[in-house]
Amino acid sequence: MASSRPVKVAIYTFGCKVNLFESDQLKRSLKNIEIVTREEDADIFIINGCTVTSATDGQVRNMIRRFVKRGKVIVTGCYAKKPDPFLECASEVEFVNDISEVAQILGEELIYDAFFDRSRPFVKIQSGCDQFCSYCIIPFVRGSLKSVPLAEIRTLLEKIKDRQFKEVVLTGIHIGKYGKDLDDGSTLADVVKAAHETVGRVRLGSLESPEIDEQLFEYAKLGMILPHWHVPLQHGSDTVLKRMNRPYTTDEFKTAIDRIVSVYKELPAIGTDIITGFPGETDEEFKRSYDLIESLPFAYGHVFPFSVRAGTAAEKMDREYPVPSEVKKERAAVLRELFETKNEQFMRSLDGTADEVVIEEKLSETLFNSTSSKFQTVEVEGGFNSRDLIKVRLKYGSGKLTGTLTV
Ligand code: SF4
Repeated sequence: MASSRPVKVAIYTFGCKVNLFESDQLKRSLKNIEIVTREEDADIFIINGCTVTSATDGQVRNMIRRFVKRGKVIVTGCYAKKPDPFLECASEVEFVNDISEVAQILGEELIYDAFFDRSRPFVKIQSGCDQFCSYCIIPFVRGSLKSVPLAEIRTLLEKIKDRQFKEVVLTGIHIGKYGKDLDDGSTLADVVKAAHETVGRVRLGSLESPEIDEQLFEYAKLGMILPHWHVPLQHGSDTVLKRMNRPYTTDEFKTAIDRIVSVYKELPAIGTDIITGFPGETDEEFKRSYDLIESLPFAYGHVFPFSVRAGTAAEKMDREYPVPSEVKKERAAVLRELFETKNEQFMRSLDGTADEVVIEEKLSETLFNSTSSKFQTVEVEGGFNSRDLIKVRLKYGSGKLTGTLTV
């Protein structure tokens, strides 16, 4: 007699918030399938892979090799979009474009939902990018812009509000271009307004500096956007920015940062991403990058040594003007140290200030981690529930922030 037990699926996720979001969305969409966490229990393996560095490529590849011996393997995410010449078992694996196709293969339908596995849900408002920065594989693997219609986002925001969340994070691959592919003229500012009116606190995911328009500055000034902005600079030298095909100059970037700072009463948390060792990066270009970063009020920064992605414009540049890998790493270490100092200064500047924090995880019966408006982790003592929004006074000491309840 055939067994009627549900199919068991194990889902593995690599990479960025978009992948995390999509895997979570898939998990919540599967109604007739059992999700398992132990690989020995699974019939089907779904790998939501990433291709951001060659190291992640290797991890994904090894996982595929292991799982093809055990059952059906479906691979999606950025890794699945380009043929991997080092994967000898590729013919035994199903590669699909996106997570909705995975749901289809499993006989289910993907629902549009937020990433609820936390106190601050992530709402993906668009996918894809058509910027084609010369080092980036995303436009090739994620396709062009695709925005979620505002009405759908509003419905989801209502759900988030009903579940008592106090903060929402708006994410995507290129959120500043939200709405450009829609014909109703909706913009990111419209999404911010809807999220603020429904849920309350609104945090923006990574946003490109040229896309911060007057309406967004105005909403920030009105307190509708949390004082935390992640604005990727990538390099602090105009010549490298040009080779990277980034659509701004360092002066324009500085102007955008000055504007962000000027719309808040207190210094906001501004974070960025930086690449070191981009093809042809000279000592002088690196020095310019260092000097610019030092001069800007960054609260934190993520530094990545350049990693070549096959098929990008930078691949050719790297063949012609490679920067030795030890130089890339040394420069990355120098910038990481600079960002550590800046982060310490920023945390110190918060000592004694008042803030509202969202309670996240329980550390002990009376101790909780929370997230501040400026994206800092703050330890607070008391009896709370996750998602609570509480007023605290911050104290900085021993490298961490703690909060004391205020009324
Ligand atoms: S780095 Fe450039 S190409 Fe890549 S996702 Fe961001 S804006 Fe798009």
